[in-house]
Amino acid sequence: MSRGGATGAGVRRRPPSDGAPVLVARDLDRSFRQGGLDVEVLKGATLEVEAGEAVALIGASGSGKSTLLHCLGGLDAPDRGEVVIAGRSIATIGERERGRIRNEVLGFVYQFHHLLAEFTALENVAMPLLIGGMRAPAAQARAQAMLGRVGLGARSSRKPAELSGGERQRAAIARALVTDPACVLADEPTGNLDRHTADAVFELMRSLNRELGTSIVVATHDLALAERMDRRLRIVEGRLVPA
Ligand code: ADP
Ligand code: MG
Repeated sequence: MSRGGATGAGVRRRPPSDGAPVLVARDLDRSFRQGGLDVEVLKGATLEVEAGEAVALIGASGSGKSTLLHCLGGLDAPDRGEVVIAGRSIATIGERERGRIRNEVLGFVYQFHHLLAEFTALENVAMPLLIGGMRAPAAQARAQAMLGRVGLGARSSRKPAELSGGERQRAAIARALVTDPACVLADEPTGNLDRHTADAVFELMRSLNRELGTSIVVATHDLALAERMDRRLRIVEGRLVPA
């Protein structure tokens, strides 16, 4: 089934949503055992991300931003509570189906780009499409279009080591968006960049959010960058409060 931009080579806006939130977390608890103690990181964390919305997740280092993103992305399971991705409660479905939903609905961007060193930018960005079963020529054409969209059209044959830090994050953003996910989860995507480059990368994510209609949840401890999003949530004692 075609979902708007997922088939052709171009980069297109997502189709209008049916009004349902793309991502819901209800009353999440998550604790970790540390030095013989249970540290409660999330204690009733609740959030809804609407289609096309850009949400900043703020909080001091160690407040639970990554833990929450891992739960939202189905990479970690909360001890209690429910995560619903594109209408599916992910605790109630098998690992295989969870993987499929994760790949189709979500994109991930990390603090460190996680591009594969031995592959070109084009090959890295085409990879999620190939994994999803798209044929190589179509995947390459779509990856090239996405690299063009993030300003790397002329650098697509470079390997990560031949790109600057900001360019690597742009490539990582292109890789996260190339499958036309409903929502991108970004964990301090600019935490490793200088101020000016971080600013440009945030601006890029914001413009892609606006133009493609992709929701974003971005963890950052940078309040100036968080101001650029539609809404800010702060993790305070394991819960999410508007900021
Ligand atoms: P943030 O991303 O806001 O810096 P994290 O979610 O990474 O915070 O961590 C929140 C707390 O949970 C920290 O105290 C951290 O040490 C702890 N923590 C996170 N993941 C694990 C884990 N896998 N095992 C044990 N403790 C963890
Ligand atoms: Mg973190």
